[in-house]
Amino acid sequence: MSEVDLLITGGMIVTACDSYPGDLAIKDGKIMMIGQHLNLPAKKTMSADGKYVLPGGVDVHTHLEMPFGGTVSSDDFASGTIAAAFGGTTTIVDFAIQGKGQTLAEAADIWHRKAEGKAVIDYGLHLAVTDATEDVLTEMASMIAQGYTSYKLFMTYDGLRVNDDVFLKALLQAKDHGGLISVHAENYYIIDYLVKEFLAEGKNEPKYHALSRPPLAEGEATGRAIKLAKLVEAPLYIVHLSCQEALDEVIRAREAGFPIMAETCPQYLLLSEDNYNEPDFQGAKYVMSPPLRPKENQAVLWNGLAQGEILTVATDHCPFNFVGQKDMGRDFFGRIPNGAPGIEMRLALLYSFGVGQGRMSLQQFVATTSTNPAKIFGLYPEKGTIAVGSDADVVIFDPNLERNINKGILHENVDYTPYEGFLVKGFPVTTVAKGKIITDHGQFLGQLGNGSFVKRKSPMLL
Ligand SMILES: [Zn+2]
Repeated sequence: MSEVDLLITGGMIVTACDSYPGDLAIKDGKIMMIGQHLNLPAKKTMSADGKYVLPGGVDVHTHLEMPFGGTVSSDDFASGTIAAAFGGTTTIVDFAIQGKGQTLAEAADIWHRKAEGKAVIDYGLHLAVTDATEDVLTEMASMIAQGYTSYKLFMTYDGLRVNDDVFLKALLQAKDHGGLISVHAENYYIIDYLVKEFLAEGKNEPKYHALSRPPLAEGEATGRAIKLAKLVEAPLYIVHLSCQEALDEVIRAREAGFPIMAETCPQYLLLSEDNYNEPDFQGAKYVMSPPLRPKENQAVLWNGLAQGEILTVATDHCPFNFVGQKDMGRDFFGRIPNGAPGIEMRLALLYSFGVGQGRMSLQQFVATTSTNPAKIFGLYPEKGTIAVGSDADVVIFDPNLERNINKGILHENVDYTPYEGFLVKGFPVTTVAKGKIITDHGQFLGQLGNGSFVKRKSPMLL
């Protein structure tokens, strides 16, 4: 047999359905063989003794170099994907946001230019439809055929949101052509009313951002989006679900057999609205939409993951520097750019606080961070599992490595982390993307531009 490129020996291979000791042989960017004590000539051999060998993480919710409210998120496709790789993520799906009057193809081109020559891991693009003319809805069909199989619609935000009539048409168009609609579900009018009330009362601090977007607003919009999907029997993916009110709607629909799939994010599992009270305007670091919720809500979401009611954990990584960006809203919470960083610590946080604290199994950890998002967004089985013939996107994860999270150990291009001071046990030590070692024990060994655009298939409905 000819030499393989990389042999990873002695680890515990973990997938969404099992774990077993085994060696992995990698050649030409693919997993070529899995077995015990593989005795093959290899250009390079790595020991994974005492460690887990996981399928590379798939983060289907990132915003790199995204314009928002007069500024731009601070990670580009270079720094953002490097941070992702250090954290054990080997594929992202970012959002190309359609500008007013643009075609979807034009929006996609703009995001391709941001990514090309920079991304160090593979990436797909969702298209966020903000100007859904008849022509644009028609264009969805040809874009689906070109590998843009998922579309995001916003029910809130001036300039981005669509009304129910457009939402319904988009659901039908996606369903007819093998695409998937995902939705940012919050009730625009509730938020608009409350923001104006707070402004009139001189309530300007960051905590009013959260109070102006109550769980009721998310629950209502989630329920409405689900009903529209049910009406036309279309699948639907709910991004960044944050609260019981929204989860109840998802559970009811799933129990009735509808393919309603939900995502949550580490910030909703681990942070709470208490963070908005941090002194000196630091609550602005947590201004995101939906906002952080009361602490009791965390257990609800963990339980949703454990029960399989929430299928994925993505980050909604959308970093803005505290100094120079978040502080644009010092006088009014409505001018604080919405979003927070998180692309790098997703696996470590979910493992430590999920598996480590008995809230989920090792298999659920892999399913929610890699396998399920890969299936739902048309990347499976090339991505999202360890199997012969799959892409050699592999993470060696040390379940005993303890780290104290602080800004200093991270590679995200932003001046803070919402997880400052969190202690984790379990940390990715080596990341392999398409057969190449791109991070190893804190060293970056990858190359800018080695990540490729991935044309995605139709969703698998979970
Ligand atoms: Zn987002």
